[in-house]
Amino acid sequence: MPYSIEQRDEQLVGTTANITYVLDFDRAPQHLVRVTLRVSAVTTEHVTLVMPVWTPGSYKVRDYAGYQGNVQAYTVRSGVRSEAPFQWRDKASLVVQAQGADTVEVEYVVYGLERTVRTNHINRFHAFLVPTAVCMYVEGRTEEVHHVLLRHDQRAWPQVSTQLSPVRAADATGVLLGALNYDILADSPLEIGDHVVRTFTVKGARHELALASTQPLDAAWLEQQLVRIVETEAALFGGVPYDRYVFILQCYPGVYGGLEHARSSVNAVDPSTMLDKVKAKQLLALLCHEFFHLWNVKRIRPAELGPFDYTRENYTSALWLAEGVTSYYDDLLSYRCGFLTQAEYLEILSKDHLSRLMLVPGRFRMSTRDSSFLSWVKLYLQSPDANNRFPSYYLKGGVVFLLLDLYIIDHTDGRATLDDGLRALWVRYQEDPANGMSEEECIAILERATGVQLRERLLLWLNGTDELPYNEVFQPLGLELAVTAETAQAITFGEERSFAAVPAAVFTGLSLAESGGTLNVRGVLDGSPAQRAGIGIDDEIVAVNGARVANQKLFEQILAASGQHGVELTCHCDGRLYTTTLHPTANMKATLRLVDQPTERQQQLLSVWLKRPA
Ligand SMILES: [Zn+2]
Repeated sequence: MPYSIEQRDEQLVGTTANITYVLDFDRAPQHLVRVTLRVSAVTTEHVTLVMPVWTPGSYKVRDYAGYQGNVQAYTVRSGVRSEAPFQWRDKASLVVQAQGADTVEVEYVVYGLERTVRTNHINRFHAFLVPTAVCMYVEGRTEEVHHVLLRHDQRAWPQVSTQLSPVRAADATGVLLGALNYDILADSPLEIGDHVVRTFTVKGARHELALASTQPLDAAWLEQQLVRIVETEAALFGGVPYDRYVFILQCYPGVYGGLEHARSSVNAVDPSTMLDKVKAKQLLALLCHEFFHLWNVKRIRPAELGPFDYTRENYTSALWLAEGVTSYYDDLLSYRCGFLTQAEYLEILSKDHLSRLMLVPGRFRMSTRDSSFLSWVKLYLQSPDANNRFPSYYLKGGVVFLLLDLYIIDHTDGRATLDDGLRALWVRYQEDPANGMSEEECIAILERATGVQLRERLLLWLNGTDELPYNEVFQPLGLELAVTAETAQAITFGEERSFAAVPAAVFTGLSLAESGGTLNVRGVLDGSPAQRAGIGIDDEIVAVNGARVANQKLFEQILAASGQHGVELTCHCDGRLYTTTLHPTANMKATLRLVDQPTERQQQLLSVWLKRPA
């Protein structure tokens, strides 16, 4: 059967399955889920079961088998269970001797107390389950229908939010859910508990918001914004390709992240997000981002990203398509949704994208394509020195596609945009959903759809380590990237009396963190004043000009006050003190702004780029 992640709820109603996972939650207070995996219609001598080592979308080997234990295997004949011999084939694969039986059962527990969007989190109040970290697959039988029976206290945990489809109405035996194949099961996280659920219909499809939070949050407001997001993205692609979609939103202290799935997404933010306008806008961009992935990455995808090998790294150079394009579109879609004004959108591009990339020396050391290929040991396994060694394919990839969109608009006199390229990639998926694309095919489709020969340009930007040609691409739209030194701000008080001068912040190349009453170095940028001063990661800043300083704010103020004259630092490294002189430089920032007197053509092209759907 060809690879498919498409499923409609009606397809699972009343189905039977020869592979069923029974999940019991009586050990939830100890952060355990008990799993009974029942495999029937066995015709082979052995049944091999494998726990994935990673979750698609999160490019890191996590060795989920490390959280698994108490494994026991049985054969079942005429309803009678007998213990079955088994052995481990490798760290995550189990071979059970079927001994001629038709049915094999394997029991195990899985421990989960890691609060991220790609790991299990189980306690007495809820269970968030990531199937790749719970459900071993049966080798050779991943294309069959799979069932999951949830046996929890349905009064304590009345809500089950997941893209898995109901097989029948919940009853005393539990909640029975299904997937047409293992790939769909692996892609279907579950939030089970007493969380808030809201449902709404857009474009004829059912949508669910599952809001898991220890703080009361405004679910009605969130629902309104989600309606806008669905409408705006559906307008881009011409409708939605699902019957039902689930937004899982987890609000817990200190978390941030998202993970995309075919008919759902998991989004995690701090509860304070809803009290802070800047953070709330980040949340809306995050929701736009993960929702956009249902098209770009789950369906429009590089060949390496589906079907998956769950036992090892799946290398791809094309995360520029998966994450670069999506990073560019998340803020652009926020703007199209009306969450940002034009000025706010330009400010986000300036601050969060262009200025941030300017502070990544690694962009001169590694290409975006290599950063993608090595994501398993780079972006997902960062050394404290990472910023100096490679650029994120999210950050640089997003900027590359900002440039590509403007390049297309300029070279077609505004008749095409990157939207046209995306829609053509979407058509390609619908014609051949079983197979992902090569990078070459993807670029050829973008060229055909936009009529622009962009291959050489795009590959240069994706393979290169030179600075991107910002102003060459911005100029035709009446935009310019101005890199300017931060200046002192005049502050007045009372009747317009001038306040003590607040000097401009300066640049050192240091990232600092306070911990336990000390000021510690977390990062040193290559080529920066801090590097020239010989300061290293993990060193402690003890004193400035002979006076003790353990407070980051104060440290920054002293440096700003002394300007570029320099300060004497006393630092601590590995049990010994040293002194050095730090000479900060002007703090530069990148601003994407409109030119003063745009031509008619510049104005017209700009309006094409920043057009909102009617
Ligand atoms: Zn993403």
